[in-house]
Amino acid sequence: TVRTRFAPSPTGYLHLGGARTALFSWAFARHHGGTFILRIEDTDLERSTPEAVEAILQGMQWLGLQHDEGPFYQMKRMDRYREVVAQMLDAGTAYYCYCSPEEVEAMRERFRAAGEKPRYDGTWRPEPGKTLPTVPEGIKPVVRFKNPIDGDVTWNDMVKGPITISNRELDDLVIARPDGTPTYNFCVAVDDWDMQMTHVIRGDDHVNNTPRQINILRALGATLPEYGHVPMILGADGEKLSKRHGAVSVMEYPAQGFLPEAMLNYLARLGWSHGDDEIFSMEQFTQWFDVDHLSKSPAQFNPEKLAWLNNHYIKLADNARLADLARPVLEREGAQFGGAPDLAPVIGLLKERANTINELADAAMLFYRQPAPDAALVTQHVTDAVKPALAQLAGALRDVEWNKAAIAASMKEVLAAHKLKMPQLAMPLRLIVTGQLQTPAIDAVLELFGRETVLSRLGKFIQ
Ligand code: GLU
Repeated sequence: TVRTRFAPSPTGYLHLGGARTALFSWAFARHHGGTFILRIEDTDLERSTPEAVEAILQGMQWLGLQHDEGPFYQMKRMDRYREVVAQMLDAGTAYYCYCSPEEVEAMRERFRAAGEKPRYDGTWRPEPGKTLPTVPEGIKPVVRFKNPIDGDVTWNDMVKGPITISNRELDDLVIARPDGTPTYNFCVAVDDWDMQMTHVIRGDDHVNNTPRQINILRALGATLPEYGHVPMILGADGEKLSKRHGAVSVMEYPAQGFLPEAMLNYLARLGWSHGDDEIFSMEQFTQWFDVDHLSKSPAQFNPEKLAWLNNHYIKLADNARLADLARPVLEREGAQFGGAPDLAPVIGLLKERANTINELADAAMLFYRQPAPDAALVTQHVTDAVKPALAQLAGALRDVEWNKAAIAASMKEVLAAHKLKMPQLAMPLRLIVTGQLQTPAIDAVLELFGRETVLSRLGKFIQ
């Protein structure tokens, strides 16, 4: 049965690239009815922070990428890594090396000077019939992996196809430091083994680590997982995606008013395709997902497309849910809810045109603040010629049944009686009732404001 993982290093927030890798790993497991694991690779103590762990967990939760096992923390598995190091020393697949960092650097320099690839020269590598140097006193050794000298490492990458790396390219990797702490590639290999990973899907910045991990896994007698390396995400300018391209922390997106389903749909299409389908649910995605349709070339981040998808999902979303998301934004903007229309129907009126919840909240503000029409605009639109028409409308609205259709009918009667065109009445109405000239359909806006508010605002301009 399929087992996949997402294994972020908590050295920063969860960014779009990480989220997409997580999504692919998750979808692969879901597609095959397998298990998805979350593993926090927190051994880099200098750069890992609890805030970053929290940000990753939050991001995964916002997206709904639920893990079946974990989160596992590498820092909690130190005993296990030490145990495997000891086993490898026993088995002769790893050995102590007493060279100081300075000696190793001198070695590398010698190879470089000779025009060769800089590497460790194998001083402490045990070989049949070879006499090792005398163990120096007072020096704590590192443990090195006894990498095969000859041959190649080959794997059939699920995304990139067959990849071959010569063992000559690979040094005898340090797997434990002088203080006994294990190193990065070793921890990943041990974890993938212990956690019985069947498919490792990750960013292609890890391609160079794969042959090292494969060799370690082989030395451990592990069954190898399949590997798939996903190309990175580029900004619209073709550069590697970075802060310059706007929000890169996934949690910036809810803050800007994006819905998780829009983000998921967007990320799913970023480097993966299913015919011409652009809009699909996560049920469809997990049903359709296959590594064959992962692109071999980098994907380009397109903020307009994300906004378009977000608008699509906003239109589909329940007004009550959107209102819950928009309310805090409105509150921040100083909205006054007392005596004002309910938020959900307001959202219903406005959501068609909104790309984000924040845009929706901005648009909704017209219902939740006192109108302060610009004096020059009032002079321009609320003319003496129009005032009698406004007065007649106010009279009609006093008694009319309060709904959009009846309001529209009253407006038509007034237009006919005063020989006015629609904008000549609608513009002053907008200005007086909302303080602005651009609003959704005026009959719908008036309906939402309610009779009392409309008449009291009109009243100030027509006595
Ligand atoms: N911890 C690594 C990273 O955040 C991923 C390791 C892996 O997927 O094997 O880049």
